[in-house]
Amino acid sequence: MFEKVLIANRGEIALRIHRACREMGIRTVVVHSTADSDAMAVRLADEAVCIGPPAARDSYLNIPALLSAATITGCDAIHPGIGFLAENARFAEMVEEHGFAFIGPTAQHIRVMGDKIAAKDAVKATGLPVVPGSDGAVDTVDEAQALARGMGYPVLVKATAGGGGKGMKVAMTDAELPEAYSMARNEARAAFGNDSVYVEKYLDHPRHIEIQLLADMHGNVVHFGERDCSIQRRHQKVIEEAPSPALNAEERAFIGGLAADTARKLGYRGVGTMEFLYQDGEFYFIEMNTRLQVEHPITEEISGIDLVREQIRVATGAPLGYTQDDIVFQGHAIECRINAEDPETFIPSPGRIDGYHAPGGLGVRVDSAIYDGYRIPPHYDSLIAKLIVRGSTRNECLMRLRRALEEYVIDGVKTTLPLHARLIAEPDFINGEYDIRWLEKLMAK
Ligand code: ADP
Repeated sequence: MFEKVLIANRGEIALRIHRACREMGIRTVVVHSTADSDAMAVRLADEAVCIGPPAARDSYLNIPALLSAATITGCDAIHPGIGFLAENARFAEMVEEHGFAFIGPTAQHIRVMGDKIAAKDAVKATGLPVVPGSDGAVDTVDEAQALARGMGYPVLVKATAGGGGKGMKVAMTDAELPEAYSMARNEARAAFGNDSVYVEKYLDHPRHIEIQLLADMHGNVVHFGERDCSIQRRHQKVIEEAPSPALNAEERAFIGGLAADTARKLGYRGVGTMEFLYQDGEFYFIEMNTRLQVEHPITEEISGIDLVREQIRVATGAPLGYTQDDIVFQGHAIECRINAEDPETFIPSPGRIDGYHAPGGLGVRVDSAIYDGYRIPPHYDSLIAKLIVRGSTRNECLMRLRRALEEYVIDGVKTTLPLHARLIAEPDFINGEYDIRWLEKLMAK
């Protein structure tokens, strides 16, 4: 087992990882920028190392600073968390070259899955269904138009290096394609320094269903069922639930088994998530995330498994020690992502929290690193808390979520709490009848 782990991240996820380490008897080193000296994870860590100024490229993305911090504190492993360097293959490689264990997959898996075209090709070769689209990158508007006419509109132009919903543009008609194409390219260049794009059939009413996977280094792979992340704004998840109200046990076993088989064939290791669009009873792979996901707690709530603990355990080389049949799901869980943003305009609202009361009681979990008097820095993303609620049935879960949202007090900054209260009262949400476009249609009304 590792003795000391460096947590190369910030915010609630740094705290989440710290918690798992402490429960495993592992000491933690939390790195931080000068803007995060007062962070909860920094306060709780066994050791904290300041690695640079607020801008992420000078701190959380500064690989030499992270490796130096791990060296001087004598860590044996590095956990990259979510975002920042979590899907940077070069970082994973360098971590291992410097003699530390990387708590994540191999650099090669990160590299393949980080290139969406390569990822689709890799999973297609194992027999997984993918969204119909171009074979590889599309280099000119003419080529994009020819392809789109062939597969029929609407189509989606997507960045090969995409993430966070960036570099993705819909073209409903041939006339819209040139603009969608150049906008996707420009956005991709600005966000990822790589303007390669491809074209995909745009599905008009799918749900986003993703499968949680866990693999050890000995070829054992299990899945932990699905999460339904269809409540999205600008291709970004807002509310997630597990299990999906749209799938039955047969479909769950089918897509879960298929995803686990694919991971096994690819020799994958660690935690990972395969994302699918699900429309009219069919699943289509869109991408794989080679890291922990923000919404992992809802899977933990229905399976009783600590995914971060498992992730750390398999990174030491330990075998899973259980099989698919040992994994049982119980009840229902929903997560609300609470951002420090105006709930109507979504403009970020950093600043000082001058009143804080988190909800509690049976089945209520808050994964957050904020506290009374905490100052939310303006330099990073606006996720400040995840409210995760479990119930023995979906209805119980919904009732509990409603009362938990009523209890939650975050004063001093604007948050998306009122948006969540409004969304979960919508009849479509209560009935589980929504797709990936539902929220945007509702907001447009
Ligand atoms: P990112 O890596 O930027 O998150 P994804 O490929 O995971 O991008 O897609 C994010 C979201 O965009 C999906 O959850 C879905 O809502 C939408 N999306 C992606 N591909 C398609 C498609 N072919 N048709 C319709 N919606 C899509």
